Amino acid sequence: MSDASELSEFHWLLAIVQSIDVGVVVLDRDYCVEVWNTFMENRSGVLPETARHQSFFALFPELDEEWFRRKVESVTTLGTPSFTIWEQRPYLLRFKNYQPITGLEDFMYQNTTLLPLKGTGGAIEQVCLIIYDVTDVAVNRLQLQAANRELQRLSSTDRLTGLYNRGHWEEILRQDYARHRRYDSQAALVMFDIDHFKAINDTYGHQAGDAVIQQVAELIRETMRDSDVPGRYGGEEFVVLLPDTDKQGALIFAERLRRIVEAQEVMYEGRSIRFTISLGIADLSQPSTSHAQLIEWADNALYASKSSGRNRVTLHSPPLSRL
Ligand code: GH3
Ligand code: MG
Ligand code: MG
Repeated sequence: MSDASELSEFHWLLAIVQSIDVGVVVLDRDYCVEVWNTFMENRSGVLPETARHQSFFALFPELDEEWFRRKVESVTTLGTPSFTIWEQRPYLLRFKNYQPITGLEDFMYQNTTLLPLKGTGGAIEQVCLIIYDVTDVAVNRLQLQAANRELQRLSSTDRLTGLYNRGHWEEILRQDYARHRRYDSQAALVMFDIDHFKAINDTYGHQAGDAVIQQVAELIRETMRDSDVPGRYGGEEFVVLLPDTDKQGALIFAERLRRIVEAQEVMYEGRSIRFTISLGIADLSQPSTSHAQLIEWADNALYASKSSGRNRVTLHSPPLSRL
């Protein structure tokens, strides 16, 4: 190749580097800038003549210097490129994001590549940093993840109360049951039903009935511990799983909830609604075969509360063994 054609090749390579839509920076071994393309100029606002021979760290004080030095050291030592994607680190340099469609984040998400550059003598004397704007991809991915989380939440919770719905709550119980059995730990189940709820609907209307159900959910949240798992089991039937709680602890919880509900007044369109609940408790102190059996026991105990007068708590008790 003649000198002239080599020169022209160099010339248009330079033009490509300048106009390409990725950031191109060449740094010497002292982290001083040697090449600064148009992308870098436009996104950082730093002119090439300002950048050239400047320390990269002085230009970008927000850059994690220790991390970047380690990266560059390994690239120059091993002589192999290194890639960093936005999921590991959202950006290397904080550039503003001007893309109006994405508009969610105000910074540019970046993937970056570090290339070792060999001099004519074969030694690595520079590194080339390439910055890709991946804001579109990142924002789409993040929005998709957020939408999936929201879908997951919606499909596991009840709209009226925000409590777990029956299906999701049973799944949690199933998993917890296995865990408690394996570690031989305690757990209790409280199941309850609003007393004479039909009469509330009939007297005050369905909307008032809904308000009562919402209020009950609120009272559960206020009464329970963070580790307890409440669910809406049916129309006006609720369940609370109390992990690591024995019969006595569950009894205290259930009785407290019963009293709070009894004392509560729900105001609906200027009318005061009072109501009570009947509760049943089952726990792991007797041998059980499945989580479904635990539900059945709690339900039986609840039924006993109903038939013995309502507004009370009943502990499931094992049938007396035959003598
Ligand atoms: P008991 O003391 O025996 O529990 O009497 P009850 O009147 O509460 O009896 P039952 O459990 O049979 O009645 C439940 C009623 O709850 C029937 C149904 O119309 C009503 N219901 C179920 N889900 C909802 C709901 O989401 N909102 C309202 N407002 N009512 C509901
Ligand atoms: Mg009822
Ligand atoms: Mg019912």
